[in-house]
Amino acid sequence: MTEKKFYFFANWKMYLDFDESNILANGLAEELKNKSRSYEMTVFPSALALQTVTQVLRDLNIDTGIQNGYWVDKGGYTGEISFSMAQNIGCRFALIGHSERRHQFKESNHDVRMKMENVINNTKLVPVLCVGETQKERDDGKTEEIIEAQLRSAYDGVNWDEKREIIIAYEPVWAIGTGNACDAKEAQSQHERIKAIVKELLPGQSLSVLYGGSVSPENAENYLKEKDIDGVLVGGASAKMDSWLKILAIAEKISKKYV
Ligand code: PEP
Repeated sequence: MTEKKFYFFANWKMYLDFDESNILANGLAEELKNKSRSYEMTVFPSALALQTVTQVLRDLNIDTGIQNGYWVDKGGYTGEISFSMAQNIGCRFALIGHSERRHQFKESNHDVRMKMENVINNTKLVPVLCVGETQKERDDGKTEEIIEAQLRSAYDGVNWDEKREIIIAYEPVWAIGTGNACDAKEAQSQHERIKAIVKELLPGQSLSVLYGGSVSPENAENYLKEKDIDGVLVGGASAKMDSWLKILAIAEKISKKYV
């Protein structure tokens, strides 16, 4: 059987407050504590709950990540948190360039590059680069061009240490939080292209591409059957215990096929 490592990433966005985040983390810990797991699970809680959720999940070998960070480690930047601060409290991953950052908070490819460089040069975190096109870009036939520009501006010439994994989330903006999930075959062809571009930019590195955008217990398996889809980044359905546990049941089933 082929060996394939699957990633199941839960982006809790700003859906849960401090208490709700800790209740969900403790509930998951209780559900998963005596079960073996053959997939990677990572939770991205709000910054406020990052430390407590990290502590709760650490004993189960479930990782956490920061949803966003600033590209300077420390200083007079009111309201910001740095990636190195997230590392100091035990996080392993960092989302970079999530479409809600790019489109609602106007983060440019340049900003994303600054964040990527800070994570790569100043921390040991694994950056998870999010890329994807808007509905308009898709309608205008610009999907490939937009994704390629996002990939090149983030990775070209970056000083990548060979032990660090490359993880990318392909998240079409029109599919995020809309219920309008991307067809699995269409996602597969974008993943294949993304892998080809990144292999050219950073040859010889281990590379995984996750799909994100309205993933649910009903459709998750369709993505995981595709050759170049190495996991899912889930928003809404990951912030509720019942739907996330259903997705994890699929994770277990699919992962076992490959181990
Ligand atoms: C996301 O936040 O990355 C995401 C994919 O959200 P949703 O699953 O709710 O579409």
